[in-house]
Amino acid sequence: MNPKWNGQFSHFDLVASTSDGVPSVVRAGDVEIGGGDFVVMAGPCAVESERQLLRTAEAVAEAGARVLRGGAYKPRSSPYAFQGLGLDGLKILRKAREETGLAIVTEAMSEEDVELVAEYADLMQVGTRSMQNYALLERLGGCGRPVLLKRGMTATLEELLQSAQIIAMNGNSQIVLCERGIRTFETATRNTLDIAAVPVLKTISRLPVIVDPSHAAGVRCLVPVLARAAAVVGADGLLVEVHPSPDQAMSDGEQSLTFRNFRDMMDDLQPYLAIRDAARLTSPQLVAMGAAD
Ligand code: PEP
Ligand code: MN
Repeated sequence: MNPKWNGQFSHFDLVASTSDGVPSVVRAGDVEIGGGDFVVMAGPCAVESERQLLRTAEAVAEAGARVLRGGAYKPRSSPYAFQGLGLDGLKILRKAREETGLAIVTEAMSEEDVELVAEYADLMQVGTRSMQNYALLERLGGCGRPVLLKRGMTATLEELLQSAQIIAMNGNSQIVLCERGIRTFETATRNTLDIAAVPVLKTISRLPVIVDPSHAAGVRCLVPVLARAAAVVGADGLLVEVHPSPDQAMSDGEQSLTFRNFRDMMDDLQPYLAIRDAARLTSPQLVAMGAAD
């Protein structure tokens, strides 16, 4: 281990990498994340209607996604934007799981929503704006479901691990980390995908790491190429926005893939997944690289 990283992160004992380098495997429904498979989670930014979600669920399942995403509670920067369907959205997500067998990831925005969301979700999403909502993190420690913890848009990796440690200290070490782009001076993309976060997190932490290319890019044409980059640097999967008609989406339409875009992305990923599998930057390898510095 690079001595800087070791000194900086080793005190997060419940989520830091272990000396034997064995990674954690997180189970969401019957899907294993961090066990070697590249797990793709896909679906709309927000659940808008039963028809919209069921159509999307079928399309993404057919193209190889294992987990269906969709927000029922939406953290929107504007108070005038669509805030999500709430409980009705959760019920639609449950129906989609029954019809397709996909596991469900959806966001809990407040500690008061945790119990209800946990009844419907296989994986509890913490959004970028909530990464430092400590009341929420503490409640997630006892929710009985794994957690998808997104990196705060202005958070360092140390702060991300700190939040993971809080969830773990409260009883839940089934945590998946998600790099979704950070705020920089660049405005050509919505956020700057910090691709180095993936191998760094996989070295310093035992937790699985996935990438959300949609919120990093902000535009759909960049999503497939960022997805390929994620695969090659050794991510454990993706979180991708897909919508039946992105131009009509109630949130994040510009970055949402059409069904066809998504199928093409999944097909085009294949050679990159082969590279990932052949040269996966596993924690032990990175530890060895760090030690050789
Ligand atoms: C989302 O996944 O739709 C979302 C709101 O993401 P983030 O919290 O990363 O902005
Ligand atoms: Mn979104």
